[in-house]
Amino acid sequence: MNEFQLIQQFFQRESASQLLGEAAPEGVLLGIGDDCALLQMPAQQQLAVSVDTLVADVHFPASANADDIAERALRVNLSDLAAMGATPLWFTLALTLPKNSDFITEAWLRNFSQGLFRAAREFNIALVGGDTTSGPLSITIQVMGAVENGNVLRRDGASLGDFVCVTNFVGDGAAALAVIQRSVQLSDEHTQYLHEQFYKPRPRFHEASLLRNIASAALDISDGLVGDLNHICEASDLGAIIDVESLPLSPALLAFNNLEQAQRWALSGGDDYELCFTVPPEKMPDLAMLIAEGKLHASVVGEMVSGSGVSCELNGEPFLLQQQGYQHF
Ligand code: ADP
Ligand code: MG
Repeated sequence: MNEFQLIQQFFQRESASQLLGEAAPEGVLLGIGDDCALLQMPAQQQLAVSVDTLVADVHFPASANADDIAERALRVNLSDLAAMGATPLWFTLALTLPKNSDFITEAWLRNFSQGLFRAAREFNIALVGGDTTSGPLSITIQVMGAVENGNVLRRDGASLGDFVCVTNFVGDGAAALAVIQRSVQLSDEHTQYLHEQFYKPRPRFHEASLLRNIASAALDISDGLVGDLNHICEASDLGAIIDVESLPLSPALLAFNNLEQAQRWALSGGDDYELCFTVPPEKMPDLAMLIAEGKLHASVVGEMVSGSGVSCELNGEPFLLQQQGYQHF
């Protein structure tokens, strides 16, 4: 199969059928097949764009199921749109595939395509173009979304005294990796939960929409809470303190029976794709209401302080981390 047959069979046809479907994504004047896609932004909206590359055996095990790899690739990109408060519209896909590989077969591509479009339909985002090359397996996805003019969740909006919060649980990404890579024994229920967390991270669109008028700053946790919160600190020209005891840890993470390891994973593990956000004291009643009504699962884990950098405390004592988060270089 040549490059063009591959594109047509696994991407163009599926994309066209999605665009003809009932809940078809908006604004695609011209999709896959020409030199460029032609896209129409909704009125009064700004374009939010983000791109991420996933390299085999760095970001995912190359031997993983192709549909899991594709779903994860799209979902982690969608997480960036969610963290900005954007609504998904379109995406492009640059695929690098090894030639003459034993496992990148037509069946692999079919599975990949199925996983990709399953996630695309779930989040109503249309594949509008891409690139296909040969080389070591890697997947680059660029997502585009819409925000109402200027109404976004940025990293630079935190103020002194704002509370630092996270959605749901932190630390599951690292726990999942331990289960996947080191075949740690946990109950079936916990293993399945962590597997889902890793391959099907949930971009927090709903949470972000609830937080739009409450949070002063936000981002998604991809490289570890401490490392990512540090981005908010730098952008907002402040420091932060995390109270380690208040980190929300899932039952699966606690089932490792190693609280200190769980806390370290929660602080610097990465791959959580939860939101980390800051809330001014005067907005805390609004946040508390959402939590009490069961509309939002979130926890206060710290506070913005003067200075720079993120420090962690456990029972009033400094809690030292060797590593602040995942770094590529
Ligand atoms: P060009 O040489 O003009 O860049 P290509 O041959 O790379 O065009 O691609 C042909 C068409 O197929 C373009 O519309 C491009 O966006 C699309 N395309 C290529 N690879 C992919 C892919 N992996 N997924 C989706 N669309 C793709
Ligand atoms: Mg090209």
